[in-house]
Amino acid sequence: MPGLKVPFGLKNGRLVGTDEVERGLACACICPECGAILEAHKGEQVAHHFAHHVVGNCAYGLESALHLGAKQILLEEQLFAVPALEAFARVTDPDTGLSGEARKMLPDKLVQFAEVRQEVDLGGVVADIYASYRNYPIIIEIAVTHFCDDEKIRRLEQLGLPAVELDLSRIAPPITMAELRAWVVERLEHKTWLFNPRMAALQEAAEAEAGAALTQALAAETKWSPNKSSWDKKYKTWSCSEKLEYALQRLRLAEAEIPSYLNYTTRGDRAILCDRRVWQSALFANFIHRKVVPLNITLGYMAEWLTDGFDVKEPFPNALKVALWDFLGNLEHVGCLERVHGQEYYIRRNSIKDINVVVEGLSQRGAQDSQRAVEGRKIRIEEAWRLPLDRDLIWVAKWNDTFAQDALAECERAFGAHPAWASLLTTLSPDAKALQPSDFALRHANTTGLSPDRVLRALVLAGFVIELPF
Ligand SMILES: [Zn+2]
Repeated sequence: MPGLKVPFGLKNGRLVGTDEVERGLACACICPECGAILEAHKGEQVAHHFAHHVVGNCAYGLESALHLGAKQILLEEQLFAVPALEAFARVTDPDTGLSGEARKMLPDKLVQFAEVRQEVDLGGVVADIYASYRNYPIIIEIAVTHFCDDEKIRRLEQLGLPAVELDLSRIAPPITMAELRAWVVERLEHKTWLFNPRMAALQEAAEAEAGAALTQALAAETKWSPNKSSWDKKYKTWSCSEKLEYALQRLRLAEAEIPSYLNYTTRGDRAILCDRRVWQSALFANFIHRKVVPLNITLGYMAEWLTDGFDVKEPFPNALKVALWDFLGNLEHVGCLERVHGQEYYIRRNSIKDINVVVEGLSQRGAQDSQRAVEGRKIRIEEAWRLPLDRDLIWVAKWNDTFAQDALAECERAFGAHPAWASLLTTLSPDAKALQPSDFALRHANTTGLSPDRVLRALVLAGFVIELPF
């Protein structure tokens, strides 16, 4: 390998950097691998290094220099930052999906060894470095191209000796002796435990703590729901504020911290006779919060749960499901859920903290969008109710005067007063049931003078057209 560079040269049995010797052959150094004569290159153009005086086929000069250099530093300084030892455990209850977790750690620390020896035969295996700290032995294996194999690790386990691997394989020359010292002594990110006799006890402690955390979580859950049927009856009798208090307690949330997606305006939310923050927080606490993901949930089951636990009075048929559909759709928008198919959702994020991060990102983008909207002719509400015209699902609410007035009020609130709304809504009748939404919108666009798209959005908003095949 012609022109092979070596970062350190061997002089009088000790590795030295180019800064410690004369230039050229006067350095009086030999290659730590092959023993050939080196010359020190200390020019202006290239980083300082040693090179073989006579180009030979020495392929391991760099590896040997790093390996020997690391050992020399440890032998001379007897100083070493020992990496942290960390155990993690999670225990999950299969019935409730609740889990407890714990992390136990012995922190990293810089230790001054009492004694350091190299190449110590431990009976079958040779340790690169065998050191002792307060009468405790510790092995350090230095890996440049050859890593400790399973057999050696098994042997260290049998001996019960703590062993750290110092991985120097990512060092790329040029490197100075001071830089190598930092890698060997102080830095931690390339040091790993091959074996530590204290790990088993640490893991056991983490598992015990995780188990205790699970027991506590289960006890808290049982306290609130001792028996399902009596619990459901009891829950239904609670006032809205009691239900909210309970949900927030489970979510560990103050009332002022309720995020926008748990206070989300939906069509049909008049169906549930409670402030929407109450039922939305309750649903989140019951079906999503801290559930082990991945887990699928269905709209139908949530609708049943709401009917069991809340006073429900639907202003139009399926209003509760429409409200849920909108609520879950928004949770999908904020990265909490993902619709699998039909009315089934997959939980992607199960904590308010994680979802808030997504919402933060969306609101930054939203600010840009609304700025654009002001400049353009689109208004935000239209964005919010985007629905493709070719969607062939229509559902017309059972018609009566109260509903007509409500629908009119909803349209005016969202789109502003317009004489077209009254005529549009009075022409709606149960006969419209059979129509495709796009046909209906087109027909009414002619009589109202509004765009078909806008007519359709008004129908969606008023609860006539829904995206869902109930
Ligand atoms: Zn060599």
